[in-house]
Amino acid sequence: MGAKYHVKVSIDQNKCIACGTCSSLMPEAFEFDPTVGKNKPTDKYKDITVDKETLKKLKDTAAMCPTQAIKVEIIETFND
Ligand code: SF4
Repeated sequence: MGAKYHVKVSIDQNKCIACGTCSSLMPEAFEFDPTVGKNKPTDKYKDITVDKETLKKLKDTAAMCPTQAIKVEIIETFND
């Protein structure tokens, strides 16, 4: 086991250029929103508790966004 992190994932759709990088790296967390033609977090990842490995993956994916549109906000940390 290890620490768990309650995180909120969001995308600033004004910045998103719909390049598809985030949804190809983490399709469980990011998806294309056809109503606006931009990417968005999946319902599951808007507000989720994840392990350290998944948090790192989210942060790495956010860092790959060419317009820094992805925000990964840690709301609370739970230690064992
Ligand atoms: S990586 Fe950034 S710009 Fe590309 S689709 Fe995802 S949020 Fe949009």
